[in-house]
Amino acid sequence: MQKRPPYIIEILSLKEGEHHFEFTLKDEFLDQFSRKYIETLHEAQIKVVLQKSKRMIDSHLWIRGSLPLQCDRCLEPYDHLFEEQLRIIFSYDRSFKGEKAIEVRYIATHERFLDFGQDIYDVICLSVPQRRVPDFHDCEDFIAPYRKPAQKTYSPHYWQPLKELLNKNA
Ligand SMILES: [Zn+2]
Repeated sequence: MQKRPPYIIEILSLKEGEHHFEFTLKDEFLDQFSRKYIETLHEAQIKVVLQKSKRMIDSHLWIRGSLPLQCDRCLEPYDHLFEEQLRIIFSYDRSFKGEKAIEVRYIATHERFLDFGQDIYDVICLSVPQRRVPDFHDCEDFIAPYRKPAQKTYSPHYWQPLKELLNKNA
């Protein structure tokens, strides 16, 4: 039997009250999803706090980590750090509306697992900026060495030794 990944949390046996989960995801995490938006993941540390009650499971997730990106301007690789939060209420009660800003999903009372994989993946993808230019480096530092050096001007004496050499051999 395949081991259940840590982002799929068993909830059926949880008692009412607060429950904490912590786990680290590595690059293999992306294998379950797609590498279209992010190719590599260094690491993501996840903290989950679930508040279970008769009516709902209120979930808070903290997601932080880093992944490698390439600067759009100078093509230099850099580490993109992300730190995001997510809150989802899983309600057993279909009449529960909640607040505007908080996502509510309805689950059956016999639901056994909550799978946060897709949510974590989405949060990490959304953390990647459209324009990938980090503010902590100066692109000029990376571009400058590849620029063509300015044309050197030689002094008239530059060719003198060569001329002498040619004359000697003549
Ligand atoms: Zn750059």
